[in-house]
Amino acid sequence: MPSKSKISALSEKDGVSRQDLSNAKAVEQIKTKRKKHSSTKHLVSHILKGNITALSQAITLVESNNLSHLKQANDIIKACLPHANNSIRIGITGVPGVGKSTFIEAFGKELISKGRKVAVLAVDPTSSLSKGSILGDKTRMEHLVRNDKAFIRPSASGSTLGGVARKTRETIILCEAAGFDAIIIETVGVGQSETAVHSMVDFFLLLKLAGAGDELQGIKRGIIEMADAIAINKADGENIKAANMAKVEFKRALHLYPTKDSHWQPTVRLCSALNNTGITGVLKVIEDYFKLVHQNGYFKDNRIAQNKFWLLQTIEDRLKSDFFNAPKIKSELKAQMDLIEHGKTTPFVAAEFLLGMA
Ligand code: GDP
Repeated sequence: MPSKSKISALSEKDGVSRQDLSNAKAVEQIKTKRKKHSSTKHLVSHILKGNITALSQAITLVESNNLSHLKQANDIIKACLPHANNSIRIGITGVPGVGKSTFIEAFGKELISKGRKVAVLAVDPTSSLSKGSILGDKTRMEHLVRNDKAFIRPSASGSTLGGVARKTRETIILCEAAGFDAIIIETVGVGQSETAVHSMVDFFLLLKLAGAGDELQGIKRGIIEMADAIAINKADGENIKAANMAKVEFKRALHLYPTKDSHWQPTVRLCSALNNTGITGVLKVIEDYFKLVHQNGYFKDNRIAQNKFWLLQTIEDRLKSDFFNAPKIKSELKAQMDLIEHGKTTPFVAAEFLLGMA
């Protein structure tokens, strides 16, 4: 018992010691259960049964930067691969505020009503800076969040777009293995992320607003070129007239681009995600697209080309990060930067020197 003078709010009381888990068998059981829960075999078999918890756990492993998780993540992906690929992969882009979340909620519901299981993922170029996520706020996807035929995963964060994109691609495989046959990948149409998304989806949808020029919408020309369809959202209320005018303009603009390898002629639709109008029309366009590309073989060729692209991309990313993370390069790079600063070497000589060290 402490003396009275020592009693204060800060003095600690003796804690109550935890009861010993004296039952060795119980301890062993808990340990094996824990191990079993995270084992590759367990996760794979549950993913294949469509278990969301296992799917989420596997995605967390894929997203982890911990090297010890990498091997398990790779093993899981390898085991899931034969069960993947049976889906339609749709990229949706548009500037913040255009209505992507609202659209995905309405569109996702439509897909589910057609018997599909929908996974919504995101590639967020800002996540590495803000540690945020465009799907962080799911309030506009209330129905999908509650629907067991939908799975929503906010974007993986990472220091490079390449890293985030790799994680998203692998997440697609896991979702497909879990039976999700419509994969929606959302991104913000202002950076480079839509090029990455374009190279991992079958169909690329651009959401736009009427009455605002491209500059105002922050959309780059290249993105329009990538689009398989443009949906002018918020075509409701007083906006309808402007939306119809924009439709004509975009249609004309789309005709100026060269024919796509898919032989698909991109088209424009109006919709109101909020009022749930025009969504069926957008889905019909997408269905027509898939019909065409399955018939003419582009669907398969494109997926093969995408896989080859990602093989090269992965090698490039890996070589780059291995190079820059090597301790001797890190210190010598600093030294060479100093030499450049003082005009004692040229960038090319310094680069040759550093590359020679690798
Ligand atoms: P995101 O940032 O692109 O994901 O856009 P949100 O889905 O969060 O929508 C931004 C705002 O636009 C919200 O206030 C929505 O309610 C509103 N909104 C979305 N779709 C429509 C639409 O079709 N019509 C109208 N009038 N408002 C919409």
